[in-house]
Amino acid sequence: MLYNSTRDSSVKVSSAQAITQGISVDGGLFVPEEIPSLTLDEIKSIGEMKYADRAAFVFSKFLTDFSDAEIHYCTDNAYSTKNFETESIAEIAHLFDGTYMLELWHGPTCAFKDMALQILPYFLTTSAKKINLDKKIVILVATSGDTGKAALEGFKDVEGTSILVFYPEDGVSPMQKRQMKTQEGSNVGVCALNGNFDDCQNGVKAIFTDNDVKAQLESSGMMFSSANSINWGRLVPQIVYYISAYAELARDGEINLGDKINIVVPTGNFGNILAAYYAKHMGVPVNKLICASNINNVLTDFINTGVYDRNRQFYATVSPSMDILISSNLERLLYLMTGRNDAVIRDWFGKLASEGKYEVTDDVKAQLKDEFCAGFCNDDETKAAIHSVYEKYSYTCDTHTAVAVKVYNDYKAATGDTTKTIIASTASPYKFSAAVLEAVQNGKSDLDEYAMIDKLAELSKMPVPAALADLKNKPERFSDVISKEEQKQYVLRTLGI
Ligand SMILES: *Cc1c(COP(=O)(O)O)cnc(C)c1O
Repeated sequence: MLYNSTRDSSVKVSSAQAITQGISVDGGLFVPEEIPSLTLDEIKSIGEMKYADRAAFVFSKFLTDFSDAEIHYCTDNAYSTKNFETESIAEIAHLFDGTYMLELWHGPTCAFKDMALQILPYFLTTSAKKINLDKKIVILVATSGDTGKAALEGFKDVEGTSILVFYPEDGVSPMQKRQMKTQEGSNVGVCALNGNFDDCQNGVKAIFTDNDVKAQLESSGMMFSSANSINWGRLVPQIVYYISAYAELARDGEINLGDKINIVVPTGNFGNILAAYYAKHMGVPVNKLICASNINNVLTDFINTGVYDRNRQFYATVSPSMDILISSNLERLLYLMTGRNDAVIRDWFGKLASEGKYEVTDDVKAQLKDEFCAGFCNDDETKAAIHSVYEKYSYTCDTHTAVAVKVYNDYKAATGDTTKTIIASTASPYKFSAAVLEAVQNGKSDLDEYAMIDKLAELSKMPVPAALADLKNKPERFSDVISKEEQKQYVLRTLGI
């Protein structure tokens, strides 16, 4: 299996190259040259395996340059109870009649990004070895909260790597800041920047492409790589849990093998729902993929009209990980829907860069309508969804998952569709305790972060994830705050160059 670039179909690289490189030199994203298919019998057999083996089975179809031993080295290290609080890794909660919550947040940072960032370091180091890149891999991350912590937990103490994360001093939640400042591991660094997220991001991009820095790294036996969600190594682990969930529901007699299901995904960068699209096209029987957005509803408009227009007001919401106006992974979907037409993709994404807007063809509009449904909701509706799920089912969901619940309820009311449905639950409610507690008890709380967690535990009767409960007692290891002008020197100094 080779990988093409969405902006140049003549590019053909191995998965190891795609993963170490992250993004193609032409600015395109790597996609496998075909979508491997699974038979229903294979899907059935997946239901009998433990999660790490399910993942290995799926990876063997995509990472054909990896040996079985290499794949199992990656999956066994990533998907174990060392890192996840449940044996099943991706737990399914049976809630409503025919509706299932796929809880993807039992990993070390309590959000679904752990599903990919726990394994990415193993993919990266294995890939580097395979293509004889005998260098230490340095990961630089700019984060607005969730990705930075998940990447730190993934890369901590992984041999042959080091990681440095920058976050905006006044741009992350108190809990997110505390999670990063107390990070453990001998190869990690965390630093706050006086500036906003864009300053962090621009600084990191400038350092990545600085030839002077590159040369200095080179001569010290190091290289930069990226852990952000355009890396194929972050997308492929997400395909696994949709196949796994379908196989498990069939195994447990909740559905018959071959029955179609709907999948609802709270969406930002379009990575998670694209993984569901891949699972469908590999052979998981899917009726509709339902794309749920918060009030930053650029994707709802796109799926409904075929016009992508990022020229609009940006809102900060209670589901901050979906506050995104440029959904990078959409490029992969459109590449597939245009029959892998790199010229068209260059044109559309050129327009996105220059005008912030493009319109797809009628053929692609028809495919979007056929495969997807889309909806959005505002913060009040999100909180109302949390409240009603809590009242009806004694189940507490986070703000991102609640957006999916609301959009799904709207879909059901509009269509009368009774197809059994999986909702991707992307974060622990404890990660966004202030908004969740407000929703559950119908009123704001003036408790501090930890007291809110205790109060939420009392009301929800759900155990507090150990990783969040422990935070209170952990010493802060990182307290550097720098200006953006100092960022480059800071990186070099931290790497000992
Ligand atoms: C990142 C994130 C999302 C959005 O996922 P995408 O792959 O960017 O669409 C949704 N919910 C939570 C909790 C997240 O951290």
